[in-house]
Formats: sequence, C-alpha cells, structure tokens
Amino acid sequence: MDFRLSEEQELIVDSYRAYMESENWEAYFHECDERHEYPLRWVAGLCELGFDQIMLPESHGGLGLEQPCVTLMAVYEVLGRYGAPTYVLYQLPGFETVIREGAPAQIEAVMSTLGTGEQIWNSACTEPGAGSDVGALATTYRRENGKVYLNGTKTFITSSAGVRYLVVMAKSAEDDTVFSEFFVDMEKPGITLSPLPKLGLRMDSCCEVYFDNVELDEADFFGTEGNGFNRGVSDFNFERWLVGACDYGTAISAFEDAVAHANARTAFGRPIGRFQLNQLKIAEMQIALTNMRNMLYEAAWKADQADGTFDPTAAAMCKYYCANAAFQVTDDAMQVMGGIAVASEHRINRIWRDLRVDRISGGTDEMMILTASKGVSRGYRS
Ligand SMILES: Cc1cc2nc3c(=O)[nH]c(=O)nc-3n(C[C@H](O)[C@H](O)[C@H](O)COP(=O)(O)OP(=O)(O)OC[C@H]3O[C@@H](n4cnc5c(N)ncnc54)[C@H](O)[C@@H]3O)c2cc1C
Repeated sequence: MDFRLSEEQELIVDSYRAYMESENWEAYFHECDERHEYPLRWVAGLCELGFDQIMLPESHGGLGLEQPCVTLMAVYEVLGRYGAPTYVLYQLPGFETVIREGAPAQIEAVMSTLGTGEQIWNSACTEPGAGSDVGALATTYRRENGKVYLNGTKTFITSSAGVRYLVVMAKSAEDDTVFSEFFVDMEKPGITLSPLPKLGLRMDSCCEVYFDNVELDEADFFGTEGNGFNRGVSDFNFERWLVGACDYGTAISAFEDAVAHANARTAFGRPIGRFQLNQLKIAEMQIALTNMRNMLYEAAWKADQADGTFDPTAAAMCKYYCANAAFQVTDDAMQVMGGIAVASEHRINRIWRDLRVDRISGGTDEMMILTASKGVSRGYRS
C-alpha cells in the first residue's frame, strides 16, 4: 500500500489549501455556528474547485480521478486542518448515490445544483421509535387511486430544513416486510418540520419531519420497490468512513492549536509544553492522529481498488475509532489550553461540541462495535 499523493492530487490539495488561506474563514464559521446557519458561501467556493465532482463518474461531470476516495480523504484532511466544518459536506460526495439509484428526473433535480454548494437532498431513516434498530420504523406508504400516500414521522434528520428533497424510507402498509424509499419533494402538502436544538454541528439543520398523507406518484419511488433497506445499508459504509475522515481532519486543528499554545504559554517560569503531564497529552494526541490517518487512508486506498466500495468492517472501525480518538484529541487539546478553550470564542470550543455528536449520529459507537466485531470474527470462522 502506498498512500503517497500523485502530482495531480497534490495540486488538488494545494488548491483547497490556498482557498482556506484566502480569507479568515474562522470568523465566518463562528458567525454561521452562532446563527445555526449553513455556510453556503464557503461551500460554494469549494464546489467551484470541484469538491462535489470528486466522487462523480465522468459521464456525469466527474473529474475522472484514478483514486477518488484517497483524493477525498486528502481534501478532508487539508480542510480539517483549518478547522473547517466538513460535516456540512456529507451530501455532496453522495450525489453518486442518486446517479446510481435515481430515476432520470430525480438525477436531473439533484444535479441541477452541481457546483453551487446548495443543499439539495439527504436521506431520512430514523424515527422516534426506530434509531439503531432501523427495521422497527413505522412510516408507511399505501396505494390508492393510482397515487401513493406517505404517513409517519422521521426524527434527527440532518439538513431537512435546507434541502428540497428527502429520500424517505417507509414500509408498505400492506406488507411490513417490504421496505422502500421515496424521493420526496419537501414542498408537497402534508409535510411539516419541527427544528431540534443541538449540542454541536450547528451549521446544519436537524428536524423532526412529519408526513401526513403526503401524496406521491409511482415515479417518486427511489430505486426499486422493496430494496429500500438494502440501498440504505449499502451506503452506510461510505458514510461511516466519511464521518471518520471528517473527525480526523478536524482534530488536527485542535491538536495544532494546543501544541502552539503549549510552546507559547509559560507557567512556573517554563513553557507549559515542558511539563510531563502536558508532554504525555501531546505524544498521545500525535499517536492518535497518526493511527486515524493510517486507518482512513488504508480504507480509502482499498475502496479505490474495489471500484469505490468500502468494506463494512473497515468502515465501522473507522467511524468508531476516529469519532472517539478525534474527540479525545480535542478534549486533551482543550485541557492543554486551559481556560481560554472553554471561556472564549476559540474554535476548539465549537470543535469539541461538534465531535461529541459524531459518536451518536451516523450510527452509534455501540452499533459500530457490533458491526466491526461481527466482521472480524467472521474472518476467523472455519
Ligand atoms: C445530529 C444528528 C443527526 C442525525 N442525522 C440523521 C439523518 O440525517 N438521517 C437519519 O436517518 N438519521 C439521522 N440521525 C439519527 C442517528 O442515526 C441515530 O440517532 C442513531 O442511529 C441512534 O439512534 P437513537 O438516537 O434512536 O438511539 P437508540 O437506538 O435508542 O440507542 C440508544 C443507546 O442504546 C444503544 N444501543 C441500541 N441498540 C443497541 C444494541 N443492540 N447493542 C448495544 N447498544 C445498543 C445505542 O448505541 C445508544 O447508545 C441523526 C442523529 C443525530 C444526533
């Protein structure tokens, strides 16, 4: 395995680095975080650089990269180093899902925003009575007079206040073993939203979404009827790795802030970085970052060899390890920085809140452990 970037990849990374150096983005992120606002101006600039084309096939305007996953990893790494809220970007590499599963009109609807950075779609599985246990969902669809009617409640749905379309998973009212997905236009009558307050990830919305007899057409099925569960689960692996990549990148900025502070701040006549208790933290933070980096690049490199398919065990391990390690790095960085980390507008404050959420959203630590351990044990069965 060789994770060295090609010349083309280095140029791509350089362009994102130059973009992050082009202005004081932290001031903008701080403002968006305070206002609970999607940082559209920043995302639009990323898309001008081709961020939303990295994972696309060339036939749909993709960059035709030899290693799209490794490239995406390198971009997340450089953006994270600047403390950027890369969690708002999850749906953009996911355009590929819509191209793979969607009907032509659905593909056109999503692709019409390519290059703009606007939020356009996300998927909605979770319900008040069905979180980790997705199969327990109670939202149903039924057919009547040539139409399809959707009823139920989804909760914790990211970007739901900003997107035009939600891919909603539901059970057939006639046969509750049949799970399907619908590409739902959020402007349809019968849909209401109730925003939820959040500890972190505040630059993206998160709502409870109610569907009250929402009238759909047969053309609104997303993918094949009955394949909803499989479709959702197959994309989990990419999403899990992506959360790991996001968390790792962000933790770099917390680490670098803390080390700079440890060198500059003096106490008892010495830089605080010379005290062994802080040295232990600095060494452990660096070890965790190195481990995260190796794990994520390895998973990305292997996915590139497998046509973009992420191994479920590796993806669950990346999500579990990186969500925890990145949070620990940030927590240690906070400790090294002392009072200014918690009683100021320093970015580490925002990053700590954001990273804590990722141990739950996108699949909890515990569910990642179950998936990872199943995959590992399977490899040792005779
Ligand atoms: C900020 C945020 C954004 C989100 N965005 C989306 C989104 O866009 N779309 C979407 O569909 N969902 C989204 N979710 C939902 C998210 O995927 C769920 O919150 C998550 O899967 C956990 O479900 P739950 O909250 O109902 O917890 P529960 O499933 O009730 O779990 C509670 C606790 O029990 C543990 N637990 C449950 N089952 C087991 C088990 N078998 N073994 C061991 N421990 C177990 C869990 O790990 C957890 O610690 C989001 C959540 C958050 C917080």
